[in-house]
Amino acid sequence: MKCPECESENTRKYSIVNEDVTSKGESEGSVDHSDFSVSHSRSEHSSQTELAKRCSPPDEPSPGFILSTIGIVFSVWFAFQVGDMMDSFWIGLVSFPVSTTMLYVFWSLVLARSSHRRHEEDMAEWEKTWICLKCGNSYIN
Ligand SMILES: [Zn+2]
Repeated sequence: MKCPECESENTRKYSIVNEDVTSKGESEGSVDHSDFSVSHSRSEHSSQTELAKRCSPPDEPSPGFILSTIGIVFSVWFAFQVGDMMDSFWIGLVSFPVSTTMLYVFWSLVLARSSHRRHEEDMAEWEKTWICLKCGNSYIN
């Protein structure tokens, strides 16, 4: 696969770069903490993480910070309401995981559907994206 920018054949798929860097990074991390004085290995490592960052797959969709905060606040509020209504702290306590589960089900059934579809499209695009290791150009093929 030739780079459209510089015609170099030194190109790789994002997914392959990502796999390489991830497995290399893991084996490296478990072995050495000692060679911080060696500037060469350090710079190599940082460029490796840069590359990994660039070639990492799109993030999984998640409820997001605001939504999960609202979820927790709502669950606590709900637990207090039920506990108050039933005149029992323990019923309120039990209702906490119930309302959390309900919110989670609601999230995965309704809200996550659209973002999952978007994530699938992103993944499909990522699977087709190549990077040129010579000039750093990335392109979809
Ligand atoms: Zn190139």
